[in-house]
Amino acid sequence: MNYDREKQAAIAAVRRAAALCQQVRAEMVGADSLEKGDRSPVTVADFGAQALVCQHLTKTFPQDVIVAEEDSSELQQHSDKLRQVTQYVQRFQLDATSPAVCTWIDAGNGSVSERYWTLDPIDGTKGFLRNDQYAIALALVEKGQVKVAALACPALPLRLDDPSSETGTLFVAVRGQGAAMAPLGETVFEPISVNQAADEAGSRFVESVESAHGHHALQQAVAQAVGITQPSLRMDSQAKYGAVARGDAALYLRLPSPKSPNYREKIWDHAAGALIVEEAGGRVTDMYGQPLDFSSGYKMEHNQGVIVSNGTRHAAVIETLVKFDQT
Ligand code: AMP
Ligand code: MG
Repeated sequence: MNYDREKQAAIAAVRRAAALCQQVRAEMVGADSLEKGDRSPVTVADFGAQALVCQHLTKTFPQDVIVAEEDSSELQQHSDKLRQVTQYVQRFQLDATSPAVCTWIDAGNGSVSERYWTLDPIDGTKGFLRNDQYAIALALVEKGQVKVAALACPALPLRLDDPSSETGTLFVAVRGQGAAMAPLGETVFEPISVNQAADEAGSRFVESVESAHGHHALQQAVAQAVGITQPSLRMDSQAKYGAVARGDAALYLRLPSPKSPNYREKIWDHAAGALIVEEAGGRVTDMYGQPLDFSSGYKMEHNQGVIVSNGTRHAAVIETLVKFDQT
């Protein structure tokens, strides 16, 4: 199976969602968000992006299950917000009505199964609200294996070290076929691969902006122990996976925050990025070297922390963590 239909559908879906997010961000007044039960923010764009992606997937693959981050229950209690979401979705999908938008959003409430799509309509909502990085992350998983990934990063320059390059990068990968990127608005893809050189980018690591999403002090110590000499690059969202996959950094460290040591990572925060890095020649495991488990549920109960690398320093990072744990 070459997954060409799935790949094209994923690309089309995340592109539309990214365009909606860019319009919301350009027109947004202040920090325009609702708070979810777990106190994390959610915006009109999160709902609109999920509606567009789920609408596209259910039309193209009516049998497929979607496991996405948002649901419409909160939105249905705020009619003004629902109206706003509907208006944005209508710009891309003329037949959108509020009930249809809620139905599309809730098409994402499926459970992990033999074949499913997983979607984070806006990964890095805090970055989105701060005018920093965010991503629309979509992946197809079969029998626990990520097969197709599309990751739209509307605020990520095509070349990190070249400020004159276009802003907006789309990463795509299909298992066994490599990883590639394109300007978000164009169709010309170029293959990407991790950086295994000892140059500036090859001795840099990436981590979250939000201190609550990792353990910055420990991440710094581990990076130093494995020979990373440059200061970390802090970035929101799975754009960090894109950075490792195309060689902007050698390593992405995400160790459990001391404030939430029992936090379990969600599948939609990692599935797309993980395939893109693996297909670019890198490695992705949890902090104990175990593969990420995309087959059990939306929370990765069997994993803790995430280590993403260009391959060369992966074992050293895990050995260092064991050593630190023993002292
Ligand atoms: P990032 O932009 O890499 O900092 O990650 C954003 C993601 O972090 C969100 O999509 C959340 O699902 C996730 N998140 C929320 N709380 C935590 C936590 N305590 N530890 C790790 N990740 C978290
Ligand atoms: Mg997320």
